[in-house]
Amino acid sequence: DLVISTNGLTKAYNGVQALKSLDLKVRKNSIFGFLGPNGAGKSTTIKLLLGLIKPTAGSGNVFGMDIVKESTLIRKRIGYLAQDPRYYDYMSARETLRFTARFFYSGPKNEIENKIDDTLELVGLDDKADRPIKGFSGGERQRLGIAQAQINDPDLLILDEPAASLDPMGRRDVLEIMEKLREKTTIFYSTHILSDVQRVSDTVAILNRGELVAQAPIEELLQGN
Ligand code: ADP
Ligand code: ADP
Repeated sequence: DLVISTNGLTKAYNGVQALKSLDLKVRKNSIFGFLGPNGAGKSTTIKLLLGLIKPTAGSGNVFGMDIVKESTLIRKRIGYLAQDPRYYDYMSARETLRFTARFFYSGPKNEIENKIDDTLELVGLDDKADRPIKGFSGGERQRLGIAQAQINDPDLLILDEPAASLDPMGRRDVLEIMEKLREKTTIFYSTHILSDVQRVSDTVAILNRGELVAQAPIEELLQGN
């Protein structure tokens, strides 16, 4: 029941080693914390998993499919929130989700509006659904990003630093949404914030300068302290 499995996954950009022989194992229905400082190789790993860049060496599977040869199929089942989501600021949250749904929602057309309502409620934006994003806080923008990533009920949700720029309250809101999603999907949560990983992750991988330093259930890692 592995959702992600990589074997010696390696990436060099023009000779600069960004990722060195990464072996990751992410179990189904877990919150996997991917922890590392800036420049550790977290975004590179995510881009490889999404098939946006090609490995220099090694291989990887998502849902049992090859990340190089089957990336189109893989991407259909992944919800992805990029590090710094951009919006059309004059649009409302609901309009934004309608726009997203047009491209990514594969369920019946007559259920789209219900799905949008449910997703807005999930992320706690139901009462602001029809206001322009212009007036949204950083936390509300991130929650809208999670809503976009979640609109098609992905089997894997990849979140790249969703809480990094937020104040403690915004951070708590995002972590609470992740708790709610725990039952529904597998979450790959990339962050440089240790305390967030401690709060929500089941398993943690620690990356430093492109190398995996540790990968273990959170309780095991904390025993060492
Ligand atoms: P993180 O997401 O953990 O901050 P990245 O994966 O973005 O780390 O970067 C890992 C390393 O690879 C860094 O040294 C970064 O400067 C380098 N890097 C990332 N993308 C590129 C690129 N397109 N070209 C050259 N170097 C890159
Ligand atoms: P992140 O921490 O998410 O990697 P960055 O600001 O490091 O964000 O990178 C933003 C973009 O620039 C990414 O697409 C990354 O691959 C690229 N990038 C990062 N470092 C370099 C670099 N040294 N040379 C060229 N591109 C880079």
